[in-house]
Amino acid sequence: MYMYSKLIFDYVAFVLLLVIIASLLVKQLYKSLSDKIFFSINLIFLIATLADILMGFTYAQLPITHERQILAYIFAYIYFVFRVSTIPLYTTYIYAISGTYFKLKKRFTKFIFYTPFFVLIIIIFSNIISHKVFTISCESGYSRGPQMPILYGISMLYALFGTFYIITIKKYFTSEKWIALLSMYILLFASALWQHINSRYLIEMASSALSLLLIHLFVQRPEKYFDYSTHLESMVAYKELIHSLALSKRNSAIYIIKIENAADIKNLFNEDRFSSFISECTFKIRTILSKKLKSYQIFYNTTGSINIVFNSDDVDIERDFPELISMWTNSLNDGAYVKHFHVKTCFIMFPHDIKDEHSLFQFEKEFNKYMKKEQLVLYAKDVVDTRDFEIRTDLTNIINNSIINKNFEMYYQPIYNLKTGRFDSAEALIRLNHPKYGFISPGLFIPEAEKRGLILPIGDFVLDEVFKFVSRDMFNKLELSYIELNLSVEQILQSDLTDKIATLETKYGTNPKNINLEITESMTGLNADVAMENINNLVKREYSFSLDDYGTGYSNTMRAYSLPLDIIKIDKSLVDTITTKRGHYIVKGMIEMIHDAGFKVVCEGVETEEQYHLLDSFDCDLIQGYYFAKPMPVDDYVEFLKGKM
Ligand code: C2E
Ligand code: CA
Ligand code: CA
Repeated sequence: MYMYSKLIFDYVAFVLLLVIIASLLVKQLYKSLSDKIFFSINLIFLIATLADILMGFTYAQLPITHERQILAYIFAYIYFVFRVSTIPLYTTYIYAISGTYFKLKKRFTKFIFYTPFFVLIIIIFSNIISHKVFTISCESGYSRGPQMPILYGISMLYALFGTFYIITIKKYFTSEKWIALLSMYILLFASALWQHINSRYLIEMASSALSLLLIHLFVQRPEKYFDYSTHLESMVAYKELIHSLALSKRNSAIYIIKIENAADIKNLFNEDRFSSFISECTFKIRTILSKKLKSYQIFYNTTGSINIVFNSDDVDIERDFPELISMWTNSLNDGAYVKHFHVKTCFIMFPHDIKDEHSLFQFEKEFNKYMKKEQLVLYAKDVVDTRDFEIRTDLTNIINNSIINKNFEMYYQPIYNLKTGRFDSAEALIRLNHPKYGFISPGLFIPEAEKRGLILPIGDFVLDEVFKFVSRDMFNKLELSYIELNLSVEQILQSDLTDKIATLETKYGTNPKNINLEITESMTGLNADVAMENINNLVKREYSFSLDDYGTGYSNTMRAYSLPLDIIKIDKSLVDTITTKRGHYIVKGMIEMIHDAGFKVVCEGVETEEQYHLLDSFDCDLIQGYYFAKPMPVDDYVEFLKGKM
């Protein structure tokens, strides 16, 4: 009877562990590294507890048979092996949960860390021959041997080391998390001491299970709050924090580190290696910050940025952070990340500098657009009052209002025909003239309009204006052949695009030959039936097509060449290179190839006489660029053409 009551805390532990494991399974908390380790710890504890209970049962009534003795030994070995594994495993958990697991990966550290564990296992199994750790006799049951203290000693070393480590990284955690994590060791020491003095109850397993429960409740959060690979908090957690900061109006400082070449590094090495660079880097950040701040949180965005939020009012950025900033230039004693990362960083006081969440996230995405090439740090306060900032953070509203108030206008950029020596075509380019901000570049608002689903009304406006223009009597008198009109992806994917255009054709009495529709390679890659149907139908109606921005993007030349095109437009970025030896041959060859495939060539962005002459010698057909003319309002365009007649 005594034996069964002795085990009462083991039953408690068993039930607790079952509950935790069930909860982990239900919440799917087993995917990230730290959650995997935590799950294994619970499972191993469960097995150890079960073995402990079964062992207790086998020799509950003494004396026991020889068979029972063997059984008891088997349970005892299972118990010891699993029990001693939990402590080092828990210490690795501390490394994983604090995002410092990479430290354990170094070969030497690995060796130092795991050797005592192997010694433990060897000692346990040596007991089979030596019987010096413990014995189970048929008459008197279980008793400890002279080597048992070594077993305890080594386990306690792990616990002591873990305790020490967790104290040094206190600042990585909020206090309740920290206490929950530390409780494992504290309870371990306490129960070992207790069992030493009073071995009536075996409380060791129950106390460990209790601290596992605390960790489960206070430390573990749903997986979406973490990045699996770095174990930093995720953007979901970041957004929630920002939301609460916005509500509380507590002023916080945010330091954003954007790794501009993240994608390249991931390609060059691999995701794992990239993650360990991130871990190295955040470890360094922590070392620096822990000296200066009471609290901060580090978040990681898998696209390659690290956001640090300082939860304090009294941070003086310029005074406190030179060290943080210099870690990007100081490659002497820092890790590999410094060599590989190209970073842009930014300090924002929120909500002091930027008032609301939406603008903050918008700004975060593009803050580097406010920076000069070699600039390393941007202070949001320096740019928030600029026109550019206001426009970028309020772009969706600006576009919406401009659609309502019709703030758009079409400009025309003349295109020079090298074969006829005349400006017989032009590209129609939209302009947004805002009552408050003035002209806003289409390079800025078109992509935004595409993202926000606002491009269709804009596209409709462009179609209407250009169809109207080419249908004027003036058009033929000016001896123009066609106007190029930019179609956006959304437009080409509209099932009623052809109908829309047919309607405009009747409305204005337009000759389709006066319109050339520009599409881009990204649209041809879409492989969408609707797009192809539109293109084919419009070609049947005698509209012609150009392929815009050729030579940027991920060219799928074969696919592009299979489209019913008239013209291919070589992008400015390539034209810019033609004065170099390599660019010269590339563009020359490209033009030849395009001609052989049966298309005409427009070169865009021609700005100098030298480029013009070179392109002429390459047998280019058409030239568009500031060298001849900039885009201009329709009246100026008509005047321009009249002047050339
Ligand atoms: P894009 O279609 O490649 O248009 C050519 C851009 O290059 C125009 O910029 C034009 O002003 C500029 N450009 C022409 N020659 C030169 C030059 O010699 N030097 C330099 N530096 N630039 C030159 P813009 O008007 O700012 O338009 C930017 C982009 O916005 C366009 O690129 C196009 O993708 C889009 N976009 C413009 N208008 C429309 C439109 O009506 N509809 C649609 N869907 N997109 C448009
Ligand atoms: Ca274009
Ligand atoms: Ca273009």
